Amino acid sequence: MELSLFFAGTAGSVPSAGRGLPALLIRRGGDRILFDCGEGTQRQLVRSVGLLDLTDIFLTHLHADHWLGLPGMLKSFELRDRERPLTVHGPPGTSALLERLRPVFGRPRYGLTIVDLEPSETVLRDGFEIEPFAVRHRGPAFGYALTEQARPGRFDAELAERLGVTPGPDFGRLQRGESVAGVSPDEVVGETRRGRKIVLTGDTAPTDAVVVAAYGADVLVHEATFAHEDADRAAQTLHSTARQAAQVAVDAEVRLLAVTHLSSRYCGGAIRDEAREIFPETVVPRDFDTIDVPFPERGGPELLRWEPGRRREPVPPPVQSPA
Ligand SMILES: [Zn+2]
Ligand SMILES: [Zn+2]
Repeated sequence: MELSLFFAGTAGSVPSAGRGLPALLIRRGGDRILFDCGEGTQRQLVRSVGLLDLTDIFLTHLHADHWLGLPGMLKSFELRDRERPLTVHGPPGTSALLERLRPVFGRPRYGLTIVDLEPSETVLRDGFEIEPFAVRHRGPAFGYALTEQARPGRFDAELAERLGVTPGPDFGRLQRGESVAGVSPDEVVGETRRGRKIVLTGDTAPTDAVVVAAYGADVLVHEATFAHEDADRAAQTLHSTARQAAQVAVDAEVRLLAVTHLSSRYCGGAIRDEAREIFPETVVPRDFDTIDVPFPERGGPELLRWEPGRRREPVPPPVQSPA
């Protein structure tokens, strides 16, 4: 099953010519989950993968660079006659904020639910869960850990047959944990395999909370608003430097670090080089890049640079009425 991250916006605070404000789309099977929705996110999506029927939106915190695109997007879904219900989740204060913006998007017919989450209040979805955890930033701010359920161990059909089990329904029984013809499941079914894990921090100063939540993750998306030369400024504003993000990746023993939320004062190459000195498996995605996350036994996560015209999804129906 496909699991990928699509970087719709990789700037922090203010957009630059090449980077839009924060928005990260995770695609898994039929699920389309957006994390943060900075100003201009709709346009970023329309220009790349299309304005998808998102299934959930999660806000990391309520600084304007992370949600200002949301009211317009909620309205556009209505104009596109979206039918699928949508839930917006965020830290405490999310529903109060969106209620104040209600005049912008009204009461959409598709059914909009707004949920204030508490840390550790896990959101369950088919085959995976998303857990918020508190990070260190100004005001309530969450990172999120997306974790897939463990998968059953590999079934050794050849060995089962050699032990005298007939291929067919008996194979299914063994895989479901029943003994068949004197053969027990643990003889022919391997150990349970872990699911994939993706963790994103939103805005944060370096914190052990991320190390704990991201431990062993396939991909850690960590903010790196500043370079080391501006470490004082990072500390004052509760952001991270590239070096600090890389140290968190080392401590959490993740497979790949993707740094984002870059200040327009640096170029991506300088941030990448600084992080790689500490944690070589670092990438700095540009807008519209994708990270594919295969099952661990099929290889490591990989950054794919955006190529226009590639990976576009079917375009939703046209707008019906002007607004
Ligand atoms: Zn921010
Ligand atoms: Zn912030």
